[in-house]
Amino acid sequence: MTRHFRVAILFVAYVACMVCLISAQAQALTVRDVRFGMHPGEKVRLVLEMDATADFRAFTLKDPYRLVIDLPEFDWQAGMISRPAGSVISDLRQGVLTPGISRVVIDLSRPAAISGAFVLPRAQNLPDRLVVDFFVTSAAGYDSHHATGDRHMFGTLSVSRPSEPGPRVREASVTSMPVPLPGRRPAQNAAPEKPMIVIDPGHGGVDPGAISSNGIKEKNITIALSKRLRDDLLASGRYRVKLTRETDVYLKLGERVAFARRYNADLFVSIHADSLPGSTVRGASIYTLSEKASDAQTAKLAVQENRADLIAGMDLSAEGEDVVNILLDLSMRESMNQSKFLANTLVERMSGNGLRLLNNPHRYAGFAVLKAPDIPSILIEAGFISNAHEARALSQPAYRAKISKAVVKGIDAYFSRLQKTSLE
Ligand SMILES: [Zn+2]
Repeated sequence: MTRHFRVAILFVAYVACMVCLISAQAQALTVRDVRFGMHPGEKVRLVLEMDATADFRAFTLKDPYRLVIDLPEFDWQAGMISRPAGSVISDLRQGVLTPGISRVVIDLSRPAAISGAFVLPRAQNLPDRLVVDFFVTSAAGYDSHHATGDRHMFGTLSVSRPSEPGPRVREASVTSMPVPLPGRRPAQNAAPEKPMIVIDPGHGGVDPGAISSNGIKEKNITIALSKRLRDDLLASGRYRVKLTRETDVYLKLGERVAFARRYNADLFVSIHADSLPGSTVRGASIYTLSEKASDAQTAKLAVQENRADLIAGMDLSAEGEDVVNILLDLSMRESMNQSKFLANTLVERMSGNGLRLLNNPHRYAGFAVLKAPDIPSILIEAGFISNAHEARALSQPAYRAKISKAVVKGIDAYFSRLQKTSLE
């Protein structure tokens, strides 16, 4: 198994800074507070304050009507929740749903539907938050809202169970407020885990990324392509996949890396479609980390990218240089070798699938987002939206599917080769 192989190699480095790593990884998500905001028109905003951003899944159910939120297993430190008087909320329960997954159930006196749900990373004095907006509707309104495929399901936390719902039986394991279940650690799985791939859709929220001459925003291309890639990887049955962002939300560069580490990623893939001066430049390219950019064009791109946090009014220096970097130098070199290997594999597969590539498509640059020392990381520039032809192509699902297919092939080749070398 690839992870075991890497862990073995990195053992020395891990021991050297065991304290920091263990404290970072063994910590479960903590829910610190729950707030309800009531708005005119029977709209409700639910805010869960957490100690970290996390993937989630939110949906409403009927018989009886309720709002359900699944999160990675959490420590409930929100205590007793006062029920807003005269509101649709009649009770709140929470507990472990299945090893590794916790559930919050909010019982509702009337049908409701979710209008939006998203994670807000910490900012100023505010902690990381999960926000769920929902509104009271009629029984018919509920049914029509839920008749439209997946639109009522928010977030992409995967809860590995064969079928949804049957939730009433399962919720029997969910304790009633105010008694929190004692913290339970996820059971160690005997079967080897599938590799975890974290896909990072570039930009988002206040940071649109590059904008094409006809107004196409990079942040929308990256999320569409990332979701397509996630679906294709999941469909292969060979991987676990997480997205750093599911929605149009701003994430700091450091948070994207932290997300990959929290999920113990075997691979981190950041997706972009930037712009370059000169509208004739086109073609996909793959970047791996280097302090020294492979050419001037690439250096400019990295500066542009690393500025994302400044654009959003955040101070990049506040992210701090990772003090364990020196100790993890060994692991850094190892994951850089693996990243390079993957980049070359991807270049092969993409050109083999008839995708247009830049000259010297594997390039090196100091992208901040590639700086996880212990995770092989690459950045895919799917194309440049400063080129009208490419902006148009990237806006089309069929072209994104073509890119995704080639990337899946590259990732397949990478893992099968990695597995082979680790068995030797
Ligand atoms: Zn970008």
